[in-house]
Amino acid sequence: MDNSSPVKYKPYNRSSIQRVPQWERIPQDLREAVDVVGHVLPFRTNQYVLDELIDWDRIPDDPIFRLNFPHRTMLDPDDYLTLRDLLRSGDKQQLAKQIYQVRSRMNPHPAGQLTHNVPELDGEVVPGIQHKYAQTVLFFPSAGQTCHAYCTFCFRWPQFVGEEDLHFAARDAEGLAAYLKRHPEVTDVLITGGDPLIMRTATLERYLEPLLSPELAHVQNIRIGTKAVGYWPQRFVSDVDADDLLRLFERVVAAGKHLALMGHYNHPAELRPAIAQNALRRVIATGAVVRMQSPVLRHINDDPMAWHELWTQGVKLGAIPYYMFVERDTGARSYFELPLAEAYDIFRTAYGSVSGLSRTVRGPSMSAMPGKVLIDGTPTIRGEKVFALQFLQARQGDLVRRPFYAKFDPAATWFDQLVPAFGERSFFFEDEPPAAGRSAFGASLALVEV
Ligand SMILES: *Cc1c(COP(=O)(O)O)cnc(C)c1O
Ligand code: SF4
Repeated sequence: MDNSSPVKYKPYNRSSIQRVPQWERIPQDLREAVDVVGHVLPFRTNQYVLDELIDWDRIPDDPIFRLNFPHRTMLDPDDYLTLRDLLRSGDKQQLAKQIYQVRSRMNPHPAGQLTHNVPELDGEVVPGIQHKYAQTVLFFPSAGQTCHAYCTFCFRWPQFVGEEDLHFAARDAEGLAAYLKRHPEVTDVLITGGDPLIMRTATLERYLEPLLSPELAHVQNIRIGTKAVGYWPQRFVSDVDADDLLRLFERVVAAGKHLALMGHYNHPAELRPAIAQNALRRVIATGAVVRMQSPVLRHINDDPMAWHELWTQGVKLGAIPYYMFVERDTGARSYFELPLAEAYDIFRTAYGSVSGLSRTVRGPSMSAMPGKVLIDGTPTIRGEKVFALQFLQARQGDLVRRPFYAKFDPAATWFDQLVPAFGERSFFFEDEPPAAGRSAFGASLALVEV
C-alpha cells in the first residue's frame, strides 16, 4: 500500500457488506451465515482487512476471514436454524427475543468481569476501572469501546456500544486520576477497550495527559491495548492525526513513562503488508515499545508455524512477544476452543523453533478468577500424568510462580474443569476441598477476593 495516497477508514457491517466487491466471492451459504450469525455476534470489517489481509482464494479457511466474518458453526445448530427461519418469516418481535436468549447463553461477562473487579472511591463506584492485581489498573475509556473491525472470538462484544464524546473523556479521565492518586501501589495503567486507538488523538490526549502529572509519578508504565496494529495500521501512518498520535507517544515517553502498545496480533498475515510493518517502525521510533499478544484459537492460529512467523517477524521489526492466551469462556467459544493440552503443544513447538529473543513470550495462559494461570507442561510424575501449572498473576500476590499440579485431562479446555493431582482434595490456593470433583471458585474466592 502506498502511503502517499491515504485510504480513509471505512467500516462495513451486516447491512452494508453486500456493497463490497468481495461479496461476490462469498458463496451463498456463507453469505446466509454472515446475516444469521451477524444478528447475534456483532460484525464489523473494513476496506483494509478486505483488500489486504484476507486471501479470497482461500476462503472460508483463510484465517483472517474466520477471524472477522461470522460463520454458521459459531452458533448451536438448532439456534442457527431457529434464527434463520425467524429472519425469513419477518417476525421481528420473536426474532429479537430469540437473539436475546441466544446471547445470554453465550456468557457475555466471563470471569466476574463486571462484578468482581470494580473499585470504589469514597463509597462511589469509579466507572471504567478494573483493579484486579495490585500493581495494575485496567481502564476502559468510554470513548474507546469499539474497534476498527471485530474479532469473532471476542469476549467484549456486549460493550460495543460506545460513542466518542470529549465530555465523557474528560470526566472519565478525572475519575481515573483521582483513583490513582489514592493508590500509590499502582505502577501500571492499562488502557483498553474495545480499542482505545479508535479514538482521535485529541480525545486520547485527554486521557493520557493527566497521567503525566507529578502527582502520579508512581504510575511508571502506561500500556495501550490495541488491535489497530493489525486491523488499521493507517492509524499510525496515514490517518489525518497519525503524526499527532506519534507526537503524543513521544510526549508520554519524554515525561519519563514507559509506554507500551499491547499489540493484538492474532495471525502473521497481519504483519505482512508493508503498511503494517511501517506502522510498527513508526511507533517504535517514538520510544514506545510494542508487545505482541493473542489467544490461541482453532481455525485461526492453531498451528505452531503461525506463531513462529508472528514472533520471528515481530522481533525482526522490533516488537516483543508477550502472551499467548487460552480463549476464555464466552461468545462462540466452542468454535475456537482448543484442549489445554493442545494449546500447550502448539506453544512448546513454536517456542522451541524461535530465537531466544522471541522467548520473552509466556503461555498458554488462562485469565481465570483467581489469576492468570500458566500451563507449564504435562509431565508424568511418579506414574501420574499431570498438568504443571502456576500463577503468572494472582489477586493474592504471594501465589505467583508457585508450581502446582492438576490431573491431566486431554479434553479439558479451561481451568474450572481441572481437579488437583495426586489425590489431593484441593489446590494450594483453595481453603476448602472443591465440591463435586470440580475446582470450586466459590471456595477459592473466599480466600483470594480482596
Ligand atoms: C493480564 C491482566 C493484567 C496485566 O497483567 P500483566 O501480567 O502485567 O501483563 C492486568 N489486569 C488484568 C485483569 C489482567 O487480566
Ligand atoms: S480488537 Fe480486541 S476488543 Fe476488538 S473485537 Fe477484536 S478482540 Fe475484541
